[in-house]
Amino acid sequence: MLRTPLLLAARSTGCRTLVERMPLTKGLVDRFVAGSTLEEALPAVRELTEDRYVTLDYLGEDVTDEAQAAATVTAYTRLLGELGHAGLAGRAEVSVKLSAVGQFLPADGEKIALDNARRICEAAAAVGTTVTLDMEDHTTVDSTLGILRELRVDFPWVGAVLQAYLRRTEADCRDLAHAGSRVRLCKGAYDEPASVAYRDKAEVDRSYVRCAKILMNGEGYPMIASHDPRMIAIAGRLAEDAGRSPEDYEHQMLYGIRDAEQVRLAAEGRRMRVYVPYGDEWYGYFMRRLAERPANLVFFLRALAPK
Ligand code: FAD
Repeated sequence: MLRTPLLLAARSTGCRTLVERMPLTKGLVDRFVAGSTLEEALPAVRELTEDRYVTLDYLGEDVTDEAQAAATVTAYTRLLGELGHAGLAGRAEVSVKLSAVGQFLPADGEKIALDNARRICEAAAAVGTTVTLDMEDHTTVDSTLGILRELRVDFPWVGAVLQAYLRRTEADCRDLAHAGSRVRLCKGAYDEPASVAYRDKAEVDRSYVRCAKILMNGEGYPMIASHDPRMIAIAGRLAEDAGRSPEDYEHQMLYGIRDAEQVRLAAEGRRMRVYVPYGDEWYGYFMRRLAERPANLVFFLRALAPK
């Protein structure tokens, strides 16, 4: 019931100003965000990579001018240089939102985003790691998959995210289940209309299983991004049935969520990657995390209540 209003608030500048000004917000945001600078985030990355893998996200989305998009590219190239320098590139890659590198700029947005993403891929190649393109709302899917295709010509290791709540995703999984392809399968974090998305949790879960089956039985590298114990167990069984060893796929979870389960899966010998966001532009990301779990919202409101 609260999911839709929270996701609408995630895109409202008025709500953003209000939430950012709340005195206790910072402590709550810190649960999900590893720091506001790279220097603050790196110790967390170093610790996580002792038993897990990491994908780093420099927070930001929906940039409105080319200068902001260029600043995002600079942040990623610096991040990748640091990963190389710190000897972490073997265990840490980056995740990029194309809207943060210009995808929706009015003139030539797609071309600007493609050129910018290419520069990030070059920096990743230079240190020997990979890039995964995050997926945003359903209006971006065709454009993002188009840019993925272009990038893969020179950087065949670029990965993409598919969202099981979208009705089209089974077909997209079939298209992307080829050798060399890296696909992160998640349920989906945006508020989508019933015309394009399943809105019932059970339907989303059933779609997730159908999509995971296609990816596991395909020739690519599936990345199972879910905290849901049922999805994790089913994915493990599907991998076994498909004859995949633990190196042939991975699990992914978000920083600050189900940490003990992350540690447990890694200790079992599964490949476990943690999505680690950092930066000042945490508002949209944070609101999507609140929308996923009402208990987080209660926690948030309790912390704000006068004592
Ligand atoms: P759910 O059914 O939502 O949750 C299952 C259980 O997980 C819950 O009962 C709870 O115990 C725990 N849990 C889930 N969410 C939270 C939370 N916020 N706080 C605390 N506990 C929680 N979505 C996109 O649309 N595009 C992307 O590019 C994208 N990238 C992602 C990358 C990674 C690595 C992950 C893990 C998720 C990503 N998502 C992305 C978000 C995803 O779509 C879901 O919104 C999110 O993962 C919640 O779905 P779930 O599969 O964990 O299952």
